[in-house]
Amino acid sequence: MSDFRKETETVQNYVGGEWQAPTGDDGQNVINPATGQQVTHVPFSTPEDVDQAVEKSRQAFQDWRTTPVEERIQPLFRLKQLLEDNQHDLAETLVREHGKTKSEAMGEIRRGIENVEVACGIPSMMQSGTLLNAAPNIDESAPRKPLGVFTAITPFNFPAMIPLWFLPYAVATGNTFILKPSERNPTTPYQLISLVEQAGFPDGVVTLLNGGPDSVNALLEHQDVEGVSFVGSTPVAEYIYETAAQHGKRVQAQGGAKNHIIVSKHADLEFAADQTISSAFANSGQRCLANPIAVVVEDVYDEFATLVVERAEAINVGNGLKAETDMGPVHTVDHAQKVKNYIQTGIEEGADLLLDGRETDPEMPENYLGPTIFGDVTMDMKIGCEEIFGPVLGLAAVDDFEAAITRTNASRFGNAASLFTKRGDEATAFKHEVEAGNLAINAGTAAPMAFFHFGGWKDSFFGDLHAQGEDMIHFYTDKAICIERWPSR
Ligand code: NAD
Repeated sequence: MSDFRKETETVQNYVGGEWQAPTGDDGQNVINPATGQQVTHVPFSTPEDVDQAVEKSRQAFQDWRTTPVEERIQPLFRLKQLLEDNQHDLAETLVREHGKTKSEAMGEIRRGIENVEVACGIPSMMQSGTLLNAAPNIDESAPRKPLGVFTAITPFNFPAMIPLWFLPYAVATGNTFILKPSERNPTTPYQLISLVEQAGFPDGVVTLLNGGPDSVNALLEHQDVEGVSFVGSTPVAEYIYETAAQHGKRVQAQGGAKNHIIVSKHADLEFAADQTISSAFANSGQRCLANPIAVVVEDVYDEFATLVVERAEAINVGNGLKAETDMGPVHTVDHAQKVKNYIQTGIEEGADLLLDGRETDPEMPENYLGPTIFGDVTMDMKIGCEEIFGPVLGLAAVDDFEAAITRTNASRFGNAASLFTKRGDEATAFKHEVEAGNLAINAGTAAPMAFFHFGGWKDSFFGDLHAQGEDMIHFYTDKAICIERWPSR
């Protein structure tokens, strides 16, 4: 067993129970967003590396599929404890290569651990129907069976949590699993998989494969990969969905977002403002569940705008490892520039710049941005309808509650939505009418617990079965039918 892999100059693949360097000539350096210093280098896997990984995974499936389920979940119990024991180290790595704050990183790891805990219940969750005397002298059952090698291709913004939306369920149901994490922060998944190694899964059951789009394409086209989970931006999600399906695979692809908070005139405005700020600016706005648009009923618009600007002005931007930091830098200088371009576009489109986050300490690296708030954002503005994925909040005034629902549903995305109100009839209308996969009433972020599924609607999701919880059992297994007739005594 190896120790927890703390520091590394180059991340490696974990294939067939062994650590080995990806053999591609290309790769990329990973930079600490808070300091500009290099954290590590990630070399990319070649198609031959992918072939080898899938073959080891396919071989491991032969024994793993028939390993009793009680044995299959034992490494997950150990993994839960290893994650608990190492969460501070893992969180600090995550901060160093992502930029979020330590408490955000700890929260992310906690959400990941919850998925490991839920998957420990697979012996109950995986059961399916049996009916005695389904027909004359016939008993009928519908056993669930694992299918083979699954892969998950994951994004940069939650490098510890999102792999755990999939890995525990894939292996507990008897499949083998290949993680292709984001090349933008590969040390966190590298350390995560070193804990998976210590948890004691048989060789080849879990594989780590580093790489970029070419490695993804090799996985999508590989005949021995049964299914693909994807989380990332909408254009790539759409591409993954189509390409994986063309190659006969199961696929679930979660995409980008532009979520809305509705603030009714019956809301507790102070509370709604607190929650809106946390939702829009946590993780520097780089969350698929962030609510970067607040649709506010006109009667309370001015008061609400004042409250959110006051709160945003108090946000302390800095290195995520410092206790006093509320918001870290955005992930890269390029991404910060993209966010600044959106702010400039917003000004040119005629939105009302209430707080300008571009004005940060000139001593800080260029990817530090403060919170930006625009008023009078309309749907025809780019900043009103496109995913910015940075610390920018837009406020939109609407005549009444019905107009707020119409405005929310006009988005092409449907990942999440929130409502602030004290009225039950508004809450009911919101729950019934809003077209989004994750809804929250009097909460800023509609994050489901691990025992519920997680997935958006519209252009935020391509597929049918979502991540987490029971949907994962359906995604990772197929049901057979077995009818039995025995001669009577
Ligand atoms: P991304 O789409 O750039 O990358 C995600 C993954 O896809 C990475 O592993 C990357 O290597 C791979 N990839 C990138 N381009 C590819 C291509 N052309 N072909 C094949 N593979 C490719 O996403 P990101 O920037 O890492 O993450 C941010 C995005 O993810 C945002 O849009 C955010 O909303 C979204 N996201 C969605 C959810 C959700 O649950 N819906 C959760 C987290 C993040």
